[in-house]
Amino acid sequence: MQEHYDLLIRRGTAVLPWGMEATDIGVRDGRIAALGVPAAATADATIDAAGLHVLPGLIDPHVHLRDPGDPAVETIATGTKAAVLGGLAAVFDMPNTAPSITDADRLAWKQDYAERHSWCDIGLYVGGTKTNIPALAALETGRGVCGIKIFAGSSTGDLMVEDDEHLEQVMRAGRRRIAYHSEDEYRLQARKPLFHRGEPYVRHMDWRDEECAFLGTRRLMALARTTGRPAHILHVSTAEELAYLKDFRDVATCEVLLNHLTQIAPEAYETLGGFAVMNPPIRGRRHYEAAWAAIADGTVDTVGSDHAPHARTKKTLPWPDCAAGLTGVQTIVPLMLNHVSAGRLSLPRLVDLMCAGPARVYGVVGKGRLAAGYDADFTLVDMQRRQRIEESWIVSPCGWTPFAGTAVTGWPVATIVRGCTVMREDEVLGTPEGRLVRFAA
Ligand SMILES: [Zn+2]
Repeated sequence: MQEHYDLLIRRGTAVLPWGMEATDIGVRDGRIAALGVPAAATADATIDAAGLHVLPGLIDPHVHLRDPGDPAVETIATGTKAAVLGGLAAVFDMPNTAPSITDADRLAWKQDYAERHSWCDIGLYVGGTKTNIPALAALETGRGVCGIKIFAGSSTGDLMVEDDEHLEQVMRAGRRRIAYHSEDEYRLQARKPLFHRGEPYVRHMDWRDEECAFLGTRRLMALARTTGRPAHILHVSTAEELAYLKDFRDVATCEVLLNHLTQIAPEAYETLGGFAVMNPPIRGRRHYEAAWAAIADGTVDTVGSDHAPHARTKKTLPWPDCAAGLTGVQTIVPLMLNHVSAGRLSLPRLVDLMCAGPARVYGVVGKGRLAAGYDADFTLVDMQRRQRIEESWIVSPCGWTPFAGTAVTGWPVATIVRGCTVMREDEVLGTPEGRLVRFAA
């Protein structure tokens, strides 16, 4: 009997969990129906992927889409449009919005809202606070919830759990892996008077020094061991933490940001001023090299963009008033592909970091690998294509990227979500059909 599919991806090189293979992929009902398809098979639509690599749909597990918040900066609609233009099939969105996502009512609102406005599939973090600890065990198993996010330092408003007593209470409430912003709040506050308004932007990394991050991570690891609660340390930025975390693989996974793999101090601050200011800060070459060594030796589980847009007017304020956070959801894939082209990592390792890694760390159901029965999410990339990242390409309303003018080799040319092509050749297609990502409860 002749096989018929909704979609066939022909002649591409697929990055499978067991290696790269030239194989045709058949899609039916939004899922991968076959790897290896007879020449006679037919389909409603066929994509000729000759010369392209077919990756599982790439995932950015760390974005701040600011919705609800300030639509002049970003919304779920614009941020996920940026995501699919940049080759992402799913993003996980942080809870520090205005208001923040910290209770059942706000989560219910966001679950409904996200499914009506998102161009890609989306996971939702719930914020842990000192006052919602009794509710966390129920919240973390909500539909589309990728996990609890704790700001142990450096937060805005009520989203802060900085002391060991409350951190331990959080860890004892619920059981899924918790994602942490790890900078020691006490050290940050104690060091603030050492600096003055109007000092050069590079002082940002002196204020939030290595020990702020390392001390935060040591405290979290001690509590994670005591309670047995798994931890995911977001945006690890120091050589010290990366060395230390190797001894905590029983309780800890970790993320490194694209920025810390791409930008180096002091040059980044000299070139970009306030548009280099983020938390934890961009640091010196020693840490950049440690981050790449930790990609090479497997210490790092995921890479994220920490896309955190702000209005230009807030980024150009003098230090330390300038807002911390950089855009990145649209540029993470091109820049990571450029790192592949430069020989800093392999395409299979990229897929491990942006598909299998997020799936493993957060317990994603049905995504993160090319295998029969999994969601038909694909990112098609042209590793030969050379392109310059232009600010005119950025669709986030804030309108800027710290990577404007950067030339890359390797570009996402199609994004497919559950069998629907939502981006082809830098053009968004159709309407927002994103759904909540499923997680193992
Ligand atoms: Zn963040």
